[in-house]
Amino acid sequence: MPDLQPVRGTHDILPDEMRRHRRVEETARALGLRYGYAEMATPIFEFADVFARTLGETSDIVTKEMYTFRDKGGDGITLRPENTAGVVRAFLSNGLQQQLPLKFFYRGPMFRYERPQKGRMRQFHQIGVELLGVADPLADVEVIALGQHLLDELGVADRTTLELNTLGDSESRAAYREKLVAYLRDFETKLSEDSRARLGRNPLRILDSKDEGDRRIVAGAPPIAASLNDSSKRFFDSVCRGLEVCKVRYRLNPRLVRGLDYYNHTAFEFTTEALGAQGAVLAGGRYDGLVEQMGGPPTPGTGWAAGVDRLALLLSEPEAWAGAIAVVPVGAGETDAALGLVQRLRRAGFAADLGFSGNMSKRMKRADRIGARVAVVLGESELARGIATVRDMKTGEQDEVPLSALEDRLARYR
Ligand code: ATP
Ligand code: MG
Repeated sequence: MPDLQPVRGTHDILPDEMRRHRRVEETARALGLRYGYAEMATPIFEFADVFARTLGETSDIVTKEMYTFRDKGGDGITLRPENTAGVVRAFLSNGLQQQLPLKFFYRGPMFRYERPQKGRMRQFHQIGVELLGVADPLADVEVIALGQHLLDELGVADRTTLELNTLGDSESRAAYREKLVAYLRDFETKLSEDSRARLGRNPLRILDSKDEGDRRIVAGAPPIAASLNDSSKRFFDSVCRGLEVCKVRYRLNPRLVRGLDYYNHTAFEFTTEALGAQGAVLAGGRYDGLVEQMGGPPTPGTGWAAGVDRLALLLSEPEAWAGAIAVVPVGAGETDAALGLVQRLRRAGFAADLGFSGNMSKRMKRADRIGARVAVVLGESELARGIATVRDMKTGEQDEVPLSALEDRLARYR
């Protein structure tokens, strides 16, 4: 016998949750199109190097979270932990450099070997957008405005806050890195093991540490703002101004850095307090170095990814099967007529359900449970007269309708 538990950190998405997922993904896809982001998909697995070489060798994902294995041919394969690297790989593989700028939307499952908690899984789902080929800060403004618009549309914006920071260009980062390391060296022995390991290789990531002790040390660290050169300052000012023009409210958070190494300039996160420790629902930034790191020509990029599972948890009650029509035969003698009718209604564009078995009351209960707004009851004597009884499930009101006129009578439920 197989173990009937799903693998730790994975779960089945039953219809109620699936409806929420769909709503998140469909809302994002439709909104993305309005902003010019076309849907694309990359494979769920890639050569391990696609991630290992780009996300940064000190990132949590690469050091701890990747599902990497050798396939039967001996290739090193990784289940994608995120999709930006895959999109950039696809951009290069398909030779799309001549078509810049490009805007993409994606959705799908991602895989990270993490400690499972509410809102944190080993197989989870992301939606995301990438805008390639635009160095102008307006590109950052656009993707952030799209993220805000999505949260508004989903009705969760009032429970989220946009946090914003800049990491500056490489010159500013190098200058900052020096100052930060000088500060952190004094606390070296008190830092967590992870952070000590990052001190030499990627000290900025220490700002993002979730370790309590680290956080106290980091609270006194110099802010990056003082290390920004003029062009990095101008860049960030433009992003802030653009957001103001778009009426997107933000809070500056000088400690915000992104978990992955390929970011520069803009970094942002929409966070919520409603999901406990799993606060980030939509996060992204600018990644001008990534395409080059992957072996392509210098190409700017910016974008974000959002956790579908986390957004789904924030959505209010899922809508029932609105508008469904339950076709209810009174007895076994009406089964064929009911089967014929339910199929006729479906062909005519109605959502319709046939109670398969049981007595009248059992079938009416089922009609209620599936959220049917109306029941079409077929009895022997009614059928003989060529009519059906149409009952409003909410008010209980009912009337007799000629079978030939059902589509017209039910039109409002389509
Ligand atoms: P966190 O700080 O929560 O670990 P992250 O920085 O690793 O997030 P990103 O790589 O930026 O997350 O991914 C973008 C979004 O994907 C996150 O904001 C979050 O909503 C979602 N996400 C990331 N990891 C998981 C996970 N293991 N389970 C569910 N959702 C996740
Ligand atoms: Mg993480």
